[in-house]
Parts: sequence; structure tokens; C-alpha cells
Amino acid sequence: MNLRPPADYIEITTNIGCPNNCTYCPQGRLIQAYKKISDVNRMSYELFTKCIDKVPAKTNILFSGLSEAWFNPDCTRMLVYAQNKHKILVYTTMSGMSIEDIRILETLPLEEFHLHLPTDENTENIAIDDDYLQKLTYLNESRIKVTYSFFGLNLKKCLEPFLKGKKVLKRDFHSRAGNIYLSKIFENRRKKGKIDCELLYGKGPVLLPNGDVVLCCMDYGLEYILGNLTRNSWVELFSSQAFLKACRSRTDSSIDSICRRCIQSQDVGLQSRINNTLVPLLMLYMKNPKSLFKAMGKIVRRLVNSDKSCK
Ligand code: SF4
Repeated sequence: MNLRPPADYIEITTNIGCPNNCTYCPQGRLIQAYKKISDVNRMSYELFTKCIDKVPAKTNILFSGLSEAWFNPDCTRMLVYAQNKHKILVYTTMSGMSIEDIRILETLPLEEFHLHLPTDENTENIAIDDDYLQKLTYLNESRIKVTYSFFGLNLKKCLEPFLKGKKVLKRDFHSRAGNIYLSKIFENRRKKGKIDCELLYGKGPVLLPNGDVVLCCMDYGLEYILGNLTRNSWVELFSSQAFLKACRSRTDSSIDSICRRCIQSQDVGLQSRINNTLVPLLMLYMKNPKSLFKAMGKIVRRLVNSDKSCK
């Protein structure tokens, strides 16, 4: 099997049981699955440094993972340690973060800083209080180059005055590789034929609080544990049975991997495009034939884009 040298980045899950509990995030599934393998719900600084010391310097560290990273009070300390050797990316809601944390972060050369904002639909359990608004104001005026985004229909109305002149991206939520139920036709289909994903080349594994490493940020059910960085070497993770099985599922559709339920996996070849893209689109638009004609451009775009192989 011709694998690329892993990995572009590793995501850090500093804690389990995210109090933000966003409705589009499969926290229940994660908590249940994690309970079966460990009772270490908060990553210690010592475990973090031990694991990060095994990660090659060219691999970036992404503080995001399967839970809000700053619910661990040692998160900024971990980041300061990691930036001595690695490029750092942050994806946060600012929950658990203090102004003092932001002050430290703005002195560091962060590659990216994404702020996930709350919505008017109240799909996130994020308190918009004085503390939150002070942090937002401080962040806006800091040296940190922030990318702002939210998941859903509308940004929280009361935040608009604080974000005047800022570009705020609106993002769609999805089933997280079948880990939460969505009623859309695309989300519920198990993909057939050849598929591919760049994360199946070991480009974005996720470190858990007990040192276990899972395949990618979609693996909330912890179905693909590649090893444990406190015991295994970095290279061993990517020759593990779990990793090789996930890789085999790119061409062997009898393996019901999470990738076959994932919006991120791409069709490879005509047969896969027909089964996984054309048929579901036609089913969708047949419910409203008038819209089929209008949607032709979108269908062609989906068919063309879905054939991008990661190889
Ligand atoms: S296809 Fe989805 S589940 Fe599979 S490796 Fe890629 S992102 Fe992860």
C-alpha cells in the first residue's frame, strides 16, 4: 500500500464531555465510547508533553479535537510547549479561555485561529455574558488574525455589533460520518465503490486525553484507535491494524468503515460517482421535478468535484 508519510497535523482533544454540547456535535456518542476505554477525562500536561515529543516537528498541532480544548485549564500551557517545535492552529469557541490566555496567545506565531461563534437558534450551550463579550472585544483588538464562523442559519443577533466589518463564514453541519442522524438523503447513504480521503493517508489523526490516537476528527465512536502515543511510536500508529483496515476500505466496499458514511470521502471512478452522487441527487430532485432543471449545474459540479482522488 502506497501511503504518504503521515501526517500534516494532529488534533488535540484535551478533555472529554464538552459542556458546550452543540446539538450538531455527537458528544453523547463520544462519551459512551470513551467510557469503555478510559476514565482519564482530562489530559494531563505531562501526558501531553510525552506524546508531543514523539510527533515529528513538521507535523502541525491543532488545538481543536473532539471537544472544546480550553475546558482543560492546562491548554494554553500545552500550546506554549508545543509551539517550540511545531506550527500551531487553534479552533475554539473561547469557552474556558480567559483574557489572560488570549494575551499569551497573541504573543505567539499562530498559523490559524478559528473562532466558532454561537447562533440565534441556541444550538450551542455558550453563555453570552460580560465575560464572553470582553473576551470577544479583546480578541478583535488583538494581534491575532481571526477567522470567524458559525454553524447553522443565523449568527447570534447580539454579537453583530461586535463583529461589524468582520467577515463571518456560515458553515453547514453534517452527520459527522453518520455519528448523528440527519434526515438528508446524502447523509444516510452508505457509499459504494471506490472512495478516497486525504485523512486516510494519516494526515489528521486525533490525540485523546489518555494518549490514544484515533483516525480523524469524524471518529466520535472511537472505531479506529491507531494506538497510544504513551506506549507506541509515531510510525507504529500508521502501521496499526486499525489504520490499515481504514485504508483498505477505500477500495473494499465490504468494509463498513465510517468513511463510507462520511461527507468528506470522495468518489473515485465513474461507478462510484453514479452510485454516490448522481443517484442521490436525482432522488432528491425527483421529489420536486421543476427544480431538477434548475439544479443541473449543481449536479454537474458535484459530479466533477466528486472525482478528485487524494492520491
Ligand atoms: S472519509 Fe471521513 S471518516 Fe474517513 S478518514 Fe476521511 S474524514 Fe475521516
